[in-house]
Amino acid sequence: MPSRAPRYRPASPKRRKDNRPSSSQRGYDARWRRARKRKLADDPLCQRCLAKERSVIAEEVDHIDPVDGPNDPKFWDPTNWQSLCKTCHSKKTVLEDGGFGRQKHTVKSGQSIEFLFEVAQAEIDHGKTGPETDASAD
Ligand SMILES: [Zn+2]
Repeated sequence: MPSRAPRYRPASPKRRKDNRPSSSQRGYDARWRRARKRKLADDPLCQRCLAKERSVIAEEVDHIDPVDGPNDPKFWDPTNWQSLCKTCHSKKTVLEDGGFGRQKHTVKSGQSIEFLFEVAQAEIDHGKTGPETDASAD
């Protein structure tokens, strides 16, 4: 067996990961957890339910204006946060990602997010929801 000089391999340059959104998203977790906790302490009630004169404990902090991940400055802007209960948050998620196989709803000019909530509520009222119905919330 011929002996070969061990080939020297220079250490490969560290791969930069900053173009991978998933890794940067992992980094925001702790910071977001703290921000979320603070927001829920400041506004413990669901702000959407509150507008309908219902007091529901908020469990989620939602970005009013949809954000493009934690690198989006709007992500960390407290004026872009609202406390939501799980029901309202899942409604909004449905609107934003077209969950449950629905067509995605987007805000068109002249439409308010309120309008979209009405659409979502109507769909939920008509039994088009997926498994996450909120029988206990009302
Ligand atoms: Zn709510």
